[in-house]
Amino acid sequence: MMPQFLPGATIGVMGGGQLGRMFAMAARRMGYRVHVFTPEENSPAGQLADATTTASYADEEAVGRFARQLDVLTFEFENIPAQTIDWCAALCVVRPAGAILNTAQNRLREKTFLSEGNLPVASFRAVRSAAELAAALDQIGRPAILKSASFGYDGKGQRRIFAQENVDEIWAARPGDELILERAVDFEKEVSVLVARGADGSSSTFPVCENVHRHHILDVTSVPAKIEPAVEKNAALLARTIAEQLDLVGLLAVEMFLRSDGELLVNELAPRPHNSGHWSIEGCATSQFEQQVRAVCGLPLGATEILQPTAMANLLGDAWQNGEPHWARALGTPGVHLHLYGKREPRPGRKMGHLTATASSADAAVRKVLEARAALGDARS
Ligand code: AMP
Repeated sequence: MMPQFLPGATIGVMGGGQLGRMFAMAARRMGYRVHVFTPEENSPAGQLADATTTASYADEEAVGRFARQLDVLTFEFENIPAQTIDWCAALCVVRPAGAILNTAQNRLREKTFLSEGNLPVASFRAVRSAAELAAALDQIGRPAILKSASFGYDGKGQRRIFAQENVDEIWAARPGDELILERAVDFEKEVSVLVARGADGSSSTFPVCENVHRHHILDVTSVPAKIEPAVEKNAALLARTIAEQLDLVGLLAVEMFLRSDGELLVNELAPRPHNSGHWSIEGCATSQFEQQVRAVCGLPLGATEILQPTAMANLLGDAWQNGEPHWARALGTPGVHLHLYGKREPRPGRKMGHLTATASSADAAVRKVLEARAALGDARS
């Protein structure tokens, strides 16, 4: 029988950010103990965990001490060194497996895995020199996007290449050492699908989310997505197929581009909860965090139907530029909910929290959440 971890067991979480914080709330509500490992003091997840180990991912002794106290380990952040995960895997059950993190933490490995599995992705090439970049641009065409293969998120380490630009100049200002060139996709919408898969192979997808990015960072998610039923079905099938091909146990977010002809192209995989799934706390029968608990602990997966059309808007550090936001004003509208992540320093571009609004339609929920966010900056009365 597959190992099952029942309430009372200890779940370890690698990473101390907001995804771990909301995971800890869900897991503790269900009666689990949560132990967080993070290099950060006073981390968002650590504030709500039963225990925290604050140490470097390279500290073998601290990692070993942490893993020996766990029944099962999961992640809220995929850029964990492979060596660290191997140390843990010798001492406790690790879900999802380290090999999946290894694939997802490098864009070249991720895109290669997807294209070898006949899953749709934008054309891409690995580029290691200015000559390879020139050849790849000829093959792929412009506009294209040059991305650093690793440690890239929220558009960090990427640069769009337009028609007239000189290859040597682009190479001189390259955004990293290991690089991938991708065709820039002319998309109509960005969507994402979360899929959970248990150790017994059962899987369940969440409804497709529609995402709007600003400056490469997710800004607003709304559900249900305004897409054709055939696209909704196809997106769910793609996510399920990827989870099966990875042999995932846990939760996986699949970000996709939707083209005007209905074609879906996979952009990114994240084997953990995802910013575009935060709406599920208020808007779905089971939140993405509870679903992660269920999947990694071997419990039956929860129902994923939408309870009410919902929209989520991120709150970046920029919202603090004129001082503390006007929380009371934003919360005056029924159906608006606030989530703050316990981060002390509101730096521009830093994800500090989010607002969720439920309403009678996705459009109405978007309007409501944007009005609530705008109200944060209103002059104090
Ligand atoms: P990423 O860090 O790869 O998720 O990229 C962040 C955002 O940049 C995406 O959500 C898109 O808005 C945009 N982007 C990334 N790759 C492409 C691409 N190949 N074509 C068009 N837009 C892209």
